[in-house]
Amino acid sequence: MKLTIIGHWGGYPKQNAASSGYLVEHEGFQLLVDCGSGVLSKLQNITQPEDLDAVTLSHYHPDHIADIGVLQHARLIQGFLGKKPPALPIYSHDFDQAEFAKLTYKDITKGIAYLPNESLQVGPFHIAFLKTNHPVPCFAMRIEAGGKSLVYTADSAFKEEFIPFSQNADLLLCECNFYGSQSGAAAGHMNSLEAGRFAERANVKQLILTHLPHYGTLTELVGEASSEYTGIINLAEEFMSISI
Ligand SMILES: [Zn+2]
Repeated sequence: MKLTIIGHWGGYPKQNAASSGYLVEHEGFQLLVDCGSGVLSKLQNITQPEDLDAVTLSHYHPDHIADIGVLQHARLIQGFLGKKPPALPIYSHDFDQAEFAKLTYKDITKGIAYLPNESLQVGPFHIAFLKTNHPVPCFAMRIEAGGKSLVYTADSAFKEEFIPFSQNADLLLCECNFYGSQSGAAAGHMNSLEAGRFAERANVKQLILTHLPHYGTLTELVGEASSEYTGIINLAEEFMSISI
């Protein structure tokens, strides 16, 4: 399984960058996890929109879904140009019916509801979900393929259920929208100390901090997380690619 970071800014993209978007690949299958602002532009450095095989979405905040509309346009236009791709499945929750309805567009994309308590098979990926602590319904994902596991927290304050859900994962892609001296709980986010403690308790093999703040010195997040977690810690970076 291979993870490539397309965008990693929380809330909105920094200049010339993208908010949440992660390409997960295995056996030639390309799964895009979240499709925030700037993702469609940045994605084209790695793969083309018409080559994606599936999308999964965690929730309907703009920094995770803003580029769904332009992804739909890209596949429509590529169809006119003779490269008609099959309808793209977009897996998401349907607790917001108005947002869920937008995922189906002509015969270009098709919204498919996942159920929080049922795991999903998407191409070679087995995906389990966990409802997070966020102001709107949002789901973390445990993605497994080829005997390896990746946990993506999406957006959330820390919750105890994360620990069994993430146990022994090969990689924890953990949101970290706040520095250790701040509390993110009221906003539905984690800070660096919580991310580190979470990684240590879940015994994950490595930690990547993502959904990053736009201010301060980001390397301090790693220093703070490392006071709680003894494993490998990296900051998410644009186009960073990790073989899991
Ligand atoms: Zn977000």
